[in-house]
Amino acid sequence: MTARPHIVVLGGGFGGLEATFYLRYRLGDRVALTLVSNRDYFLFKPNTIYVPFGEDPEDFKVPLSGAVKRKNIEFIQHTATSIDPHGRKVQLTGREIGYDYLVVATGADMRPGEIPGLAEHAVTVWTPAEMLRLGQAFQKLVEDARAGASRKLLFLIPPNNRCSGPLYEMCLMSDTWLRRHGVRDRIDITWTTYEDSFIQAFGPRLDTVVAGEFEERGIHGFKGFVATAIEAGVARYQNGQAREFDVLAAFPPYIAEQNYGALESDDRGFIKVDPDSRRVSGQSAIFAVGDAADFPIKQAFLALLQGDAAGEHIAAEITGVRPKLKFEPMSMCVMEELNRATFAQVPLSYTGDPMKPVQVAGDHPEDYRVGVSPLWRLGKKVLGIYAPWRFGRGEPFHAGFAWEAMDLGLKVMSKLMAS
Ligand SMILES: Cc1cc2nc3c(=O)[nH]c(=O)nc-3n(C[C@H](O)[C@H](O)[C@H](O)COP(=O)(O)OP(=O)(O)OC[C@H]3O[C@@H](n4cnc5c(N)ncnc54)[C@H](O)[C@@H]3O)c2cc1C
Repeated sequence: MTARPHIVVLGGGFGGLEATFYLRYRLGDRVALTLVSNRDYFLFKPNTIYVPFGEDPEDFKVPLSGAVKRKNIEFIQHTATSIDPHGRKVQLTGREIGYDYLVVATGADMRPGEIPGLAEHAVTVWTPAEMLRLGQAFQKLVEDARAGASRKLLFLIPPNNRCSGPLYEMCLMSDTWLRRHGVRDRIDITWTTYEDSFIQAFGPRLDTVVAGEFEERGIHGFKGFVATAIEAGVARYQNGQAREFDVLAAFPPYIAEQNYGALESDDRGFIKVDPDSRRVSGQSAIFAVGDAADFPIKQAFLALLQGDAAGEHIAAEITGVRPKLKFEPMSMCVMEELNRATFAQVPLSYTGDPMKPVQVAGDHPEDYRVGVSPLWRLGKKVLGIYAPWRFGRGEPFHAGFAWEAMDLGLKVMSKLMAS
């Protein structure tokens, strides 16, 4: 190890930036920091749900240049392709860099090809470009309905999707949006998911909330529908059922964005880690956080918590003290519906069942909080301002006075508007 340890972070998303800025916040100039990312901006993905309804994707990008300059972090815009743990080196396209500690946070990708026909016939939700295509499909539905035609809009979550929430948002938002355009009565909306309860990862209370929303909005919702094949205009399911569509919106199965052969990974390329510290299995100096790692649910809030845990464990090792925190999986999200929003705070524990990998942790029932209100839309807006603002300044999401104020605000809102 060099006198001033060199920490390299791969990936400029939620997990990578949180780990990078947390390390600078905790250790100051005691360490040299290098951030490697194939994009020179941070994308606030959660707000790309607004793109199909008219928002500009550019509004959700935060350039990284200001933050890295301000915090004296070397930034390398390159793609990481492999890791040599013995030589403590990362291979980038065209060059190699060494490290004392490495944090891998290169995120996830989609594999629509797992369901025959999905890639050809569905509009998928992942990148801003796909969101723009979905927006065009929604516009066409409105035009067709205004011309007097009836149309079918089908939503689909297949097995191995690891973050179903955003597609639920799109479904409920599209209902509100189509009503505002005065064409909802001509568009049939159907929801199908492999899950055995709606937003399974968020537990039974979200199932009840979503079932109520579907009932009130006249959306046909089906659970336990495992998609097996998509043909032009028809989705087929394992239970023998089929559903017709004019527009199919799907959130495909997840895989790791980048495979690192030298790191122990599962069959989808997600890196196996110690649950508390996020240290990669069998490695002393490599950590993996966020969508790239093996936690079965992939969410920004969980990526931030993992980034903090990895940063804290590296900082503790460098300073020779005990780590002050570990990764405790507590999911938090606000589900947008355009006319109101649903807040959920959900403590999670592992089940070991691949079809239902997490459940609501039973040891702190008071932490499981759910609330539905138009005011929660404000909470979503505030989070959408706070996170890009923090990262734009090179500060971690979860630290300092700003986070204490934010946390207090969330606690007050949660006390008043969730139970
Ligand atoms: C439409 C949508 C809505 C969502 N809404 C929510 C929400 O409301 N709440 C929530 O908690 N979560 C939400 N999520 C999930 C959330 O966005 C992800 O879980 C989160 O982005 C994961 O963070 P990450 O840092 O692991 O990965 P990412 O944010 O994907 O970042 C990965 C980074 O690594 C870089 N990279 C990738 N490969 C390489 C490589 N080989 N070399 C160098 N750099 C590389 C990328 O450019 C990127 O900067 C949503 C996701 C989507 C798609």
